[in-house]
Amino acid sequence: MQTADRLKKIPPYLFMELRKKINKAKAEGVDVISLAIGDPVEATPDSVIDELCKTAREPINHRYPIDEEKGMMAFRKEIARWYVERYNVKLNPETEIRGLIGSKEGCHHFVLARVNPGDIVLMTDPGYPAYRSSILMGEGVPHNVPILAKNNYLPVLEDIPTKIAKKATAIFLNYPNNPTGACATLDFLQKLVAFAREFDIAVCYDNPYGELVFDGQKKISFLQAKGAKDVGIELNSLSKPFNMCGWRLGMACGNPDLIAGISKVKENTDSGVFNAIQYAGIAALKNESGFADKMLGIYARRRELVLKTLKKIGIEFNPPRGTFYLWVPVPKGMTSLEFTNRLFDKTAVVVAAGTAYGQYGEGFVRFSLTVPDDRLEEAMSRIEKEFKS
Ligand SMILES: *Cc1c(COP(=O)(O)O)cnc(C)c1O
Repeated sequence: MQTADRLKKIPPYLFMELRKKINKAKAEGVDVISLAIGDPVEATPDSVIDELCKTAREPINHRYPIDEEKGMMAFRKEIARWYVERYNVKLNPETEIRGLIGSKEGCHHFVLARVNPGDIVLMTDPGYPAYRSSILMGEGVPHNVPILAKNNYLPVLEDIPTKIAKKATAIFLNYPNNPTGACATLDFLQKLVAFAREFDIAVCYDNPYGELVFDGQKKISFLQAKGAKDVGIELNSLSKPFNMCGWRLGMACGNPDLIAGISKVKENTDSGVFNAIQYAGIAALKNESGFADKMLGIYARRRELVLKTLKKIGIEFNPPRGTFYLWVPVPKGMTSLEFTNRLFDKTAVVVAAGTAYGQYGEGFVRFSLTVPDDRLEEAMSRIEKEFKS
């Protein structure tokens, strides 16, 4: 059976390919340790699970979700409260907030709601691969904007050719950044708003790691920039800060027209998130404000261990202060893929090759810190043995 042309433009999803490779090695009896995927291994907080169990028993919640595509009003109100508490940002739960089945869904719906076929959509290189897929499925034309270490992995907006900016109708950004760990500054966000306003570009600011920054780094939201709501939305998610990747719960906040557009797409696609999961999400936002900090303590410890090991094998660098990833320069004379393959073949440790995130990812690999301590220790001891000359 022939499938649609639009699918041919989409490269295979990185982690699906990786999973195949890992499964094959495992089937051959190899003790594989994967540091490739960002998906916390520790459990979701108890209070969240308890709320799910309780509300899952109520028959009213077995019906189609209340408020359907918009997300329950109670959930949206809690998001509004949380944005004030966290960022001092005021949002109208009626018009400026939508519940989502995760922020990844939001990326896709944002494109469908904003981009016409043939429109240029800006995204960073390196960047989260799902942006490209969303743009291509919406029949937009992705245009890569490099983000480089020398600019703290922030795009230089002035360097985007005016011809391109004029044709662009949207931009994807993500800070704290996957894969580099870089954090934005309010000053940069203010420039972003001005840029978006000048060229009528809708901003999709993907912020699922907003809570995950190490000490000394401020937690910020795109919506704190003056005028942000005029030009874009922020996607957020309960996946990464509350160890809820499998629950599929997130939100889009900001510009009412974009929010209405996303709602229209959702209205015609799904019927919203299971009510009990939305109640659990309320419990997370309300009761677990210290949870991300607890996890950060764990990630900080693992981060130190990886940095110490890399130093021993001659890789030294000054990592940015966000997310649970380390964006690691590969040893001199090797490409990203060569280093990734040598790690896999000699130590059975899987990392993500930087080039999976774009051409400017060459020279880097991404380590994820979302594995149990003992497995990370084992991985580091294997790496040290293999690469220590
Ligand atoms: C993990 C991740 C997401 C996906 O979040 P969900 O809410 O689980 O869909 C989105 N964007 C980036 C940059 C991510 O790393």
